[in-house]
Formats: sequence, C-alpha cells, structure tokens
Amino acid sequence: MNRRKFLKNSTLGMVGTGVLGGKSLLKAEEKKKDDAPKIKEHRTLGRTGFKVSDISTGGPMDESVLNALLDAGVNYIDTAESYGPSETIVGKVMKNRDRKKVFITTKLLVTSFPGLPVKKEEATKEGIIKRFHKSLEKMQTEYADCLMMHGVDNVADLKHEGYHAAVSQLKSDGRLKYTGLSNHGSFHPIDAKEPMGKVLSAAAEDGRFDVYLMAYNFLKQDQSEEILKACTEKKIGITLMKTNPVGNYVGIKDGIARLEKEGKKVPEFYTQALAKFKMKYEQAEGFLKKYNLEDPSEIKVAAIKFCLNNPAVNSICVSYRNFDDVAKYVKLSGARLTPADKAALAVYSKSFGQFYCRHACGLCESSCPQNIPVNTIMRYNHYFAAQGREKYAMERYAKLASRVADQCQNCTGSCESACPYNVPVQTLLVLAHQNLTLA
Ligand code: SF4
Ligand code: SF4
Repeated sequence: MNRRKFLKNSTLGMVGTGVLGGKSLLKAEEKKKDDAPKIKEHRTLGRTGFKVSDISTGGPMDESVLNALLDAGVNYIDTAESYGPSETIVGKVMKNRDRKKVFITTKLLVTSFPGLPVKKEEATKEGIIKRFHKSLEKMQTEYADCLMMHGVDNVADLKHEGYHAAVSQLKSDGRLKYTGLSNHGSFHPIDAKEPMGKVLSAAAEDGRFDVYLMAYNFLKQDQSEEILKACTEKKIGITLMKTNPVGNYVGIKDGIARLEKEGKKVPEFYTQALAKFKMKYEQAEGFLKKYNLEDPSEIKVAAIKFCLNNPAVNSICVSYRNFDDVAKYVKLSGARLTPADKAALAVYSKSFGQFYCRHACGLCESSCPQNIPVNTIMRYNHYFAAQGREKYAMERYAKLASRVADQCQNCTGSCESACPYNVPVQTLLVLAHQNLTLA
C-alpha cells in the first residue's frame, strides 16, 4: 500500500462510519503528515557549501517515494544517466518543486562498462555535453548541481580530457556547478583496474573533484578512513553508498535454504563447499543468538548510525524500495551510535565479517586465472540479496557474458587464498551465480 492509499483508506473509513466530518478529515490527514519522520540534521557538502540532509536518496525509482522523501526534508538526490528511468522520475517530481532547495547530482560513464558501452564519439567534449544536456532534459531542469564521472576505477581516467573540457564549458554556460566522481572499486577492463584508495587519493590530489560518492561501512573501514580524512582536509564533499553490508548475511541464508529445498543432485564441489560454509554460518548464527541479535534489521540500523557518527560523512545515499523504507531510514536522521549499537556491530563483525566481500575491494582478482570480476559479481549479488533489486542485478550480471561465476565450481579457488579478510568467496561466487541466474 502506498502512502496516499494508506491515508485515504484510514481516514475515509472513519468518515464512512461517521467518526470523522470534513474538517476532522483534513486535520487527520495533517496529523498523519506531522507524524511522518522528518530530516533532523543537515551537513555542509564540502566546498560546495550546500547544506545537505544527512540521509538522502540514491537512484530514485518511484515518484511517490521521491515525493515522500522530499516532503520529509531530504534535499540531496543522486542519480545517473545509466540508472534507467531514474532521471526521468527526478524530472517529473522536481518540476513541481523549488529547484534551488535540492542538490541534484547525476553521473555519466567516460569509458565502457560491461553492458554499458560508451562509443568513442560519446566520450569527447562534444559527446559528453550532448549526453549531459539529455540528462538535464530528462530531469526537467536548467542545471545540475554536480556531474560525477561514474565508477572511475583507474587513475588515468581522472585526467579524461573530454570530460574536463565538457565540465569547464558547462560551468561557464551556467548548466553545472560542481563536479565529482563515484567509485565502485575494480571494473573492466580488468588490466586497467586500481584499488579504491589509490583512485580516490589521486582524485583528491588532482583538486578538480568537489564531491565523492564512495563505499564505506563498519566492515569496510581500512581504505575508506584514510580517504575520508584527506577529503575533510581538502573540503571534498562525501556522500556514501553501500553503508549496509548486513543483507549479505540474509542473502546467504536464503541461498542455502533454496539449495536445500531443491533437493536436486548437486555436483560434489557444491556439497562439500556448502557443508564447509554451513558450518561456519551455523557457528556465527549461534553467536548472534547468544547476544540476542537475531533480528538483522537491528544491525542494519546500527550500520547506518555508524556512518552518521563520522563527521567527515556529509550524506548517506539510500535506495528506497517502498514507504516502509522511507520511514525506517529518514527516522535515522541525526542519530548517533549508542554503546548498544557498538556492541551489536562488534558481535556482527566477529561472527559475520568473514562472509562479507568488501565493496570496492578487488584485491583477490589478479589471482584468478579466468579474470573473473569477483568484486563486480559480489556487488551485483548485493543488489539482488540486500537491496531487493533482483531484475536489475540479473540484467547486469547477464552482461558479463563469459566472465560469470559458473566456472568457479571447478576451480582450485586461488581467489579465496588471496583474500586478506578470509572471505569464503569461492562458495559465495557459486551462490551468487545461482541467485543471479536463478539456476
Ligand atoms: S573476496 Fe576478499 S579480496 Fe576478494 S574482493 Fe572480496 S573482500 Fe576483496
Ligand atoms: S573460484 Fe576460481 S574462477 Fe572463480 S574467481 Fe576464484 S579463482 Fe577465479
């Protein structure tokens, strides 16, 4: 049920039974709106000086949900040329809003990604300007606050001449205010990839990027903490994605349950790997039970608070599937980590940290003889299992063509030995393949 239907059903039902008259009906609607959670904290987005809501929205996919978020005080929208209908949805909503009160960031690719080819002529200054204008048209706005280079995975691309020439032109034309970049860690081509820390540090040194969208969470602090510190010094605005690594646990649990339910004859590797994996999983689950932490949503909330606790973070871009998500995440605005939250995260890290393939990591990829994009596959699995974006995740996975994880079953698993976090990634890849192909 959407929010309007909810309001209509609850209040009209009361009118029908004679409980409410016309005036009372209006009051009831107003009260319902007043009761909805609101943004409580704004933070300065680096050198842009814009005061953004600490909780914001990434890739809006629903007009009603976006309207509810803006009504709640969310004023930072992150979207991208490659996010399907997202820019159009932003346009439909923003045409009825005060444009100046909302900071809109969109992103575009300057090199090809699997399934997202960028032609040579589309990556020139003229090509990028043309694509950016198309984004503005879809967003029904005269300007964007920020344009990000999307998913930069190597230092060389930071100097992309066509991109910077286009940004200068767009700024002098009054169509763009700031520029930035997002980083998902390694991508393709595999031989050009560099770790997140190297790329983002180089971008900070470059000096032309005003805002970052990066991965950070309580299980992924090593590379990220240093970057956050450098950004604060250089007044680079920080927005976050992948703040909640907890869904992987739920996804793994579901994956195992589905395998068991199928009851099919499975290859020996599968049985052995699952037995090994299941044992670890059961040990970890027992640990959570011992500390009364059986509800994953409790830990997800603590995960968001962990990021809000860091003053270097300006805004957290959340993907909202429905109104329940709006209520759940907006309510966290202004929240801080409590001792109980810290304890919950510590228990979770100890018991489930080993199951989390760190976003934007990719340290094991060079050890794979098949050049499998481990981190990209695990990210698609995160979209599938943690964010409920099954169709999108499966479409992206299909675009990887021959570099998918079906071949991981019959391998010695050198990636697993190379992982410094002891992630049982070979098994996770096999499960991810099953999720992403519904095999
Ligand atoms: S398996 Fe380990 S090394 Fe490989 S990408 Fe994941 S966290 Fe990094
Ligand atoms: S299991 Fe083997 S094929 Fe799969 S990513 Fe690891 S090393 Fe590569």
